[in-house]
Parts: sequence; structure tokens; C-alpha cells
Amino acid sequence: MKQKKPRLAEPEKEVLALIESLHENSRRLEELTGGEVDTVANRDGQTFMLRHAQDRLRQSEAAKQAAILNALPAHIALLDTHGFITSVNDAWERFPGEDAIQQPGYEIGLNYLEICDKAQGDNAADVHQIARGIRSVLEGTASSFSIKYATHPPGGQSWFLLTVTPLAEDYRSGAVVMHLNITEQRQHAVQHKIMEEALFDEKERAQVTLNSIGDAVLCTDRSGNITYLNAVAENMTGWSYQEAASQPVGKILNILGSKTRQTLPSPPEMEAAQDRTMHLPPHCILIRRDGSELPVEESVAPIHDREGEVTGAVIVVRDVSAVRTMVLQMAHSAHHDSLTGLPNRLLMNDRITQAIALAQRHMKKVGVLFLDLDGFKHINDSLGHPIGDKVLQSIAERLVGCIRAGDTVSRQGGDEFVVLLSEMEQLEDAALAARRMLQAVAEPHSADERNLHVTASIGVSVYPDDGLDAETLIKNADTAMYQAKDNGRQSYQFFKPAMNVRAMERQFIEEELRGAIERDELTLHYQPKIDLKTGAITGAEALIRWTHPTRGSVSPGQFIPVAEACGLILPISAWVLRKACLQARTWLDAGLPVTTMAVNISAIEFREENFLQGLFAILSETGMDPKALELELTESVLMKRAEAAADVLQILRGKGVRIAIDDFGTGYSSLSYLRKFAVDALKIDQSFVRQISAGGDDATIVTAIIGMARNLKLRVIAEGVETIQELNFLQNNQCDEAQGYYFSRPVPAEQFAMLLENRDALGAAGIARPAQQ
Ligand code: C2E
Ligand code: MG
Ligand code: MG
Repeated sequence: MKQKKPRLAEPEKEVLALIESLHENSRRLEELTGGEVDTVANRDGQTFMLRHAQDRLRQSEAAKQAAILNALPAHIALLDTHGFITSVNDAWERFPGEDAIQQPGYEIGLNYLEICDKAQGDNAADVHQIARGIRSVLEGTASSFSIKYATHPPGGQSWFLLTVTPLAEDYRSGAVVMHLNITEQRQHAVQHKIMEEALFDEKERAQVTLNSIGDAVLCTDRSGNITYLNAVAENMTGWSYQEAASQPVGKILNILGSKTRQTLPSPPEMEAAQDRTMHLPPHCILIRRDGSELPVEESVAPIHDREGEVTGAVIVVRDVSAVRTMVLQMAHSAHHDSLTGLPNRLLMNDRITQAIALAQRHMKKVGVLFLDLDGFKHINDSLGHPIGDKVLQSIAERLVGCIRAGDTVSRQGGDEFVVLLSEMEQLEDAALAARRMLQAVAEPHSADERNLHVTASIGVSVYPDDGLDAETLIKNADTAMYQAKDNGRQSYQFFKPAMNVRAMERQFIEEELRGAIERDELTLHYQPKIDLKTGAITGAEALIRWTHPTRGSVSPGQFIPVAEACGLILPISAWVLRKACLQARTWLDAGLPVTTMAVNISAIEFREENFLQGLFAILSETGMDPKALELELTESVLMKRAEAAADVLQILRGKGVRIAIDDFGTGYSSLSYLRKFAVDALKIDQSFVRQISAGGDDATIVTAIIGMARNLKLRVIAEGVETIQELNFLQNNQCDEAQGYYFSRPVPAEQFAMLLENRDALGAAGIARPAQQ
């Protein structure tokens, strides 16, 4: 079986060439001697001479060959056909290591094949294979044999290439065994391979990186022609690499200044001039191959060769469209309200300032309208914020619909909007706008299949009359808005300087009222209600009193509205109710004949979700009989949310709590509701009572109310009775009960107890002497 010739390394070739030359010399010798030396000698009769010549030639050839073989770095041995070592070179003696194959003593005369066959140890398998290879050459089944094997001498691993070739063309003359140390070569090859792989990895990594970064990367040569585009660059420019290759970069990367629309110098030009990384000015536009535009940012860096010479440039182009959009969005959201999209406080201040400057030049006015929704908190609390948000959006839309092109509607936050009317001719323009807005807001708003009704209050301030800067104008419009709310909601109010005094007053009260309970500044006074038939005290109305340490007494008319506006009313109301109930219990326990304790309930308190819960908790905590409690509610409180109010009243009545409608006649009661409400009594407002003595319409109103109450089977109580005439009139018109200074002012508890004990203590006219019938 012929074996394929192995590829040979350089030193190996050299050795084989030498061996080849040995063969050649041998052949020449044969030619010279004619093959048969003896025959030639006999024929020519010059045997000795010839032999001598032959010997000399042989010797000199052998010496030459030995010298050559010894000079070789390879370890060479000649084997005879049986595998006996017939000759070795010097290097053979210096075979390193202690492996089976390289044991010292493989000397001439030993059988190499046998030695190899017996090999044991690490590389025994290789050695056995070598033996097989040598045999195949010696037997002529292979023309040559070679194998690379490793040895493991103590100094480290070495690699050898073993080649076995027949000594002559005729395999029968034995073989040449040559071990060539290829450790160094092999190390070089391994290192080369490692380097090659590292280089490949590096290239691959660079390629993947370039294709996976979000930026376009383009490379050019020294003359600015494209040598590389990554995938992003292909996408961004619209040029494929194949199309762009060797094209001038300016053709592929057409960049303009976004403002100037001038083509910017080609990046390599700039870079070449500078020989350093450069960034293009911001706000550049890339004109893509299809003509579309893309906002970009760009940087250019030179590529140097080993000598530091610039060989080209790398251009990195970033698509900044998303960033620019975001910047624009951020600028927008810094100046706009996210819910309604309207300008915010910041932008509004700016617009007002601009409008003032313009108005000043044109001798015009500027109107600032501060709009606040009435009771919007209630919508948010009861229907949830998502509905509240929808209502706010709907209101924003309507307000925008009410203004002219140059005007601005802004949202200040919460349920507050500020409207700027620029270049106003006259005050009436602002009034008109305010009325339009009130009407627009009052139209029902649909949110989640509901129709919601909202009203607003508007305060108006005007430049230059009410302020010379945005801040003052807004502040004064806000103050006027509070006045509008006080006047009864859904109205507008122009600012008046006196309002500032009121606003400061409100602020003072709010600050001072906080902690008034803890500081024990609040007390209750009680005013008796008198049965006009018997003159008996039927009950007491609890009225709050606040004695401020420096101000002295502050009337409820002053501080209750402030407490309502800032939420302080809730803790105050709870305090009043608890205190009044405890007082009633004390009197009842003392055997004093007070049948009812009336407590005033504020609108805010009544609409509070936990109103009933809180009330019943206090009743049970104080041990107060619910039947002895009367709640005084004004008409407007009940009518605001009549349906819900009716339910609450029903529950209260179920528990035995009585209800009186306070200040009756001043609000707008719907008679049909009045019939439905579980009400026990009407209290005629003192403004009507006051007019009794004056005669005229108001007296008629009193009789009408009394008549109506009787019809509805309600008790009727006249408030603020101060004179005997008023008392007489009421008695004559079958009014059930009365209350007023004529009988007694509201008095502290101890004094009221005295009234209960001694009816004669009642006012001058006394109830002991009811007016003549
Ligand atoms: P109101 O419930 O209508 O109370 C009657 C007011 O008329 C009381 O004023 C009382 O002092 C006054 N008054 C009684 N008789 C006469 C009279 O013959 N002539 C005159 N001129 N006035 C008379 P007050 O105490 O200043 O309270 C004013 C309002 O403040 C009350 O009106 C009530 O709405 C509210 N208020 C008083 N105390 C409380 C309270 O504890 N809670 C709540 N939520 N409101 C209260
Ligand atoms: Mg009252
Ligand atoms: Mg009243």
C-alpha cells in the first residue's frame, strides 16, 4: 500500500536532499566500478589500483557523508532492513530527554524496531506507531513515513517530526530514520494561529460593534472617499456600502446647517485641517438620498498609520430627531399644564408681562380673570379624580372657546384658571368675557355618561387700574374671586382695593383660628327658644363664640366662612356638637327642663362623606338622646344636592334627630322638595321679623311663611325677635316659637341654667306675660 507523500518542512527537505545526494554518490560509484568491482579488476588486470581507488573514493564519500550528517541538527540513524541501527550521526547521541524512544543506548547494533516495540510510558502509543511506520518502509509497503510526536522531558514539552525514508530507492537497503526537533516551529505556528484568531476576533468584534451601535459610522481614505459604511450609515444616508464605496464623502453625507441651510464643509476637510477629533456645530440636517431631512450631530476623527500619518477619517453621525423632539416636548411641558394642555402659571406670567408692555404702548387695558370652580372638590371626592380630570378638560376647552385669538387661558393648578384679555378697550369687555365664561362653564359637562353641573366664580383685575405687573394683577383677581364666592357663587366681581383689606383679614383669621380649640379660645353660648303660647323655654340654640387673646370677641359671621373655606370648619363643628350634647346632658341630668338642643350645621360639614357617622359617634359618646337634638341647616345647604340631602335627612329622622331650616326665606327653597324633606321646623330669618313693625311686604312674607309651615305641618320659629311689636305680631299670626334679644341674648351655660330654673330671668317683657291676644 503506497502512502501519500507527506508535506515536508524546510530543514527536513534539506536533510532529504542530502540523503538524495548520498544516493547519487553511491550510484556514481557503481557506474565507475561497473557494478562488479572484481570483474572489472580481473578484466583490466589492475585490481589493486582499482580497489585502492574505490576504497579511497568510498572513504572520502563516506567521510563527506558522515561530516554532512553530523553537521545536521536532526537526529539521524540508518537502519538495515531488519531494523538494526547501522549508523547514527552526532546529533543522535545528543537526543534529549528520557522518553522511551530517546533512551541513551540506541546505539549501533541495537534493533530499533525492538526497542520501539517495547516502549512504555507517556508516548508509548506514538512510539509503537513509529515502529509500525518504520516496518512499512522497510517492508516496502510505504514509500515513506512521517509523524509528529511530543516528548515530555523535565524542561518542558518538545515536538519532533519523525520521517522514515528508504535508504535507497530500493527499499531493501534499509531506511533512514530522522527525528527533527520542530518545537520552535510549532510554537511559532501556535503563536501565529493565536494571533490570527485574535485578529479575527478583533475584526469581528469591531464589525459587530459598528453594526450594533445606533450611530452611523463612515470611513474615508486620505482623499475623502468612502471606504466603509456600517448598517446604520447605510440606512441613514440611503446609500448601500457597495454604491457608496470610493465615492466622495460629500456626496454620501450631505449636511446643512439647520438655520443657515448652507452646506457645511465636508468632514474630512475640516478634520484634515485640524488633525484632531472635531464636532460639527449643533443643529445640523442630513439631506438623505431620497431628499428627506434628518436632524443629526456629527463628529470626525482622523485615522493614523504607524508613522502617525493621517490615512483617512472616521465620521460618526447621530440621528438626534428623537432627542430634539424630546427637548421640544420638555420645553412645552415646562410651560404647559399636562392635563389640559393649556399654558401654565409660568407661561401665563410671561404672557401677561408681554401684554402689559403692549398695552402700555397702545394705551390699552389688560384684563386678568381669575376663575375658580365652585365646590369642585366635591366632584373629585365623590366621583373620583378621573371624572374630575375630564370635567377640568372640558372646562378648559370651553374657556378657550370664549376668548379671542390674542388672549390666553391658563390653568394655575387644581380648579383654578387664569384668563388674559390683552389690548382691552374698556372694563365692560372683561365683564362680557366673565359672563360668557360663567355661562359656558355652567352648561352640563358629560363625563362617563354622566351630565355634571359645575359653576364658577370669577374675579377680575385690570391693568393699569389694579396693578402694574402680572403678579399683582393675578393676586388681585384672586382676591376679587373670593369676594365673588362670598357674594353667592356663579358670579364675577371686579377687584376693589378694599378687598385687599378683607383678604388680609381672612388670612389673619385663618392663621389665628388654627389651634383656637387647643388654646381654649372657643366657647358656646346658648339662646333660648320660647313657646309663644305657654312662654316656656322649649330649647336652646348653641352659638359659637371666639375670644381672641388680642382681638377680643370675633363674631361667627366673620370666622365661620373663613373656617369653611380652609377646612377648619370640620374640627370646629365636631367640637361644637360634642360640647352642646354634653351640655344638654348635664342640664337634663340636673332635671332642668330643656327639650331640645339646636346646633348649626355648615354646608361643608353636611356634605362631608362621614357626616352621619361622625354625628352618631358623638351622640353615643356623649349619651345624648337623638330626639333632644335639632340640626339647623340653611335652605341652600339642602337645595344644593337635594336628592342626596333628602336621603341624609331621612336617616336622621329615622334616628329621631330633628331638622330645622335656618334663615328660611333668604334662600331659594323649592316647595316640592320642602314637602319631600324630613324637616320638623322652619326658622323665619330675622331680616323679615325686623320689618314686622315697619309693616309692608316683609310682614306679609312672615305670615305667608307661617301659613305655609302650618300647611306642611312644620313648627315655625321666628328668629331675632327684639320688640314687643314683633312678638305680638307673631303671636297673633300663630307663630309657634320665637327666639331673640327680646327674650334673651345668647348666654353662657351657667346663665342659661338660671333661665331654665327661673323663667322670670327672661328679658324685660318676659314670657310670663305673653302679649294680649
Ligand atoms: P343663626 O344660626 O341664624 O343664628 C342666629 C344669629 O342671630 C346669632 O348670631 C344670634 O346671636 C343672632 N341673634 C339672635 N337673636 C337676635 C336678635 O334679637 N337680634 C339680632 N340682631 N341678632 C340676634 P351669631 O351668634 O353671631 O351667629 C351668626 C351665625 O353664625 C349663625 O346664624 C350661624 O349661621 C352661624 N353660627 C353660629 N354658631 C355656629 C356654629 O356653632 N356652627 C356653625 N356652623 N355656624 C354657627
Ligand atoms: Mg341657627
Ligand atoms: Mg338664623
